[in-house]
Amino acid sequence: MRIVLALFFACLLWMSFQKREPIKAFLARELSALIDPIETLDQASFLAELTSRANAASETSKKTPLALTASTDLQFWLSQRSINGQLGDLSAITSAIKDTMPTFAEVEAIEFKARRQTELLDEFTRWIHTRPPGLTHLATFLIRTPDEDRVKGITIACRKLPRFTPTLLNSDHAEFFSTCAFCEDEHPVSVERNPLGRFLHCPSCSRNYGILFQDLEGRYHHANQFLTGFEPPSFVPRADPDDLDGRHFEMTTIWKAVVDHCRYETDILGLAGQGEQWQFASQTHAYANGDCEDTSILLVDWLIARGFDARVALGWAQTAGGETTGHAWAVCRIGREEFILESTPHYYDPQGPPTNAEIGNLYLPYALLNRGTTYFRRTEGWTPTYYSSHDWEAITTPPLSPEEIPKIAETAGSVATAHRWIHGRLHFNDLSR
Ligand SMILES: [Zn+2]
Repeated sequence: MRIVLALFFACLLWMSFQKREPIKAFLARELSALIDPIETLDQASFLAELTSRANAASETSKKTPLALTASTDLQFWLSQRSINGQLGDLSAITSAIKDTMPTFAEVEAIEFKARRQTELLDEFTRWIHTRPPGLTHLATFLIRTPDEDRVKGITIACRKLPRFTPTLLNSDHAEFFSTCAFCEDEHPVSVERNPLGRFLHCPSCSRNYGILFQDLEGRYHHANQFLTGFEPPSFVPRADPDDLDGRHFEMTTIWKAVVDHCRYETDILGLAGQGEQWQFASQTHAYANGDCEDTSILLVDWLIARGFDARVALGWAQTAGGETTGHAWAVCRIGREEFILESTPHYYDPQGPPTNAEIGNLYLPYALLNRGTTYFRRTEGWTPTYYSSHDWEAITTPPLSPEEIPKIAETAGSVATAHRWIHGRLHFNDLSR
């Protein structure tokens, strides 16, 4: 018996020596482990329990309860990093999250060590309840300390940005997460208000890859989505596609009809310097008014519906006085010729539309629109051409669905008008007459 006891103590001494611990501490730890065995680390349950506690009202604080979502993606990312031995300290973790997952705009991290997971839950809950509002996601990760005596927990609380949609511009959101359509860089984006529109700008390739405008009801759309395929009822003779003179006559007739029909009016927001408010072609047609982009949209929508290769151009133009001003105009290609179609009285030339070769140097477009596509200029210098893929890069944005296009209020029978062909010119007539 004595020999057995001596051997047992020798063993304990040897184990305590191996762990480089005083025999007393070693015994206390081993005994407590015997009474209180090592817990299994259940990452998923721990995250679920912490999220539920974090979202419950705090006992000490009168703040509104948080609405955090458990981020299993982020938890998985933490576990992968731990397996690869790259976990690092808290500042390394927060900067790695911001670098690799730019959708997380604000990242806060904390770590605690405790013997029991319930103690960690208490510590983390207290910490989360002192966080500022606005955080949206939560992740946590548990690992054993090297001596296996305690559990180290890391908790991350962060604000995840919503993915950009034009609809979100109408809400209180000011910051979004977006992917550059050119270089596919993922980045946070704040959409600045600008008299020329609202732009999605890529910090990586320094290019704009989205242009957005408000409609009359204050809803934002991609600029090309204002082209909806609208064609007013009309009796314009259709020319054979191979008959270039006939096509030119058809284009000119439609162009003059739009100019004659629309009263030029600057929109109220534009006058207040707060940016433009755009009309859909159906609205410009029904209300018989609009400014340069509204009438260009009606003209281009109509031309495209008749099979023309037409685009709305956004940019700057030189006025007769030599000043340069923000402007919108239409371009249309027939055969090899590109025509510039001005739809506002200031620029309109009743003799007929000039070609780009004749007056193209008076214009500097930064974007072109057709149905479904916005073209961004690739080059800084301007060699006037509207159709070369060398100069223009296309970004596709699907057209709006019929439900998304505002319905036209019935106004004095204007909806029921058609463009009637009288004495070689188009006129707007009430069909009911
Ligand atoms: Zn980019």
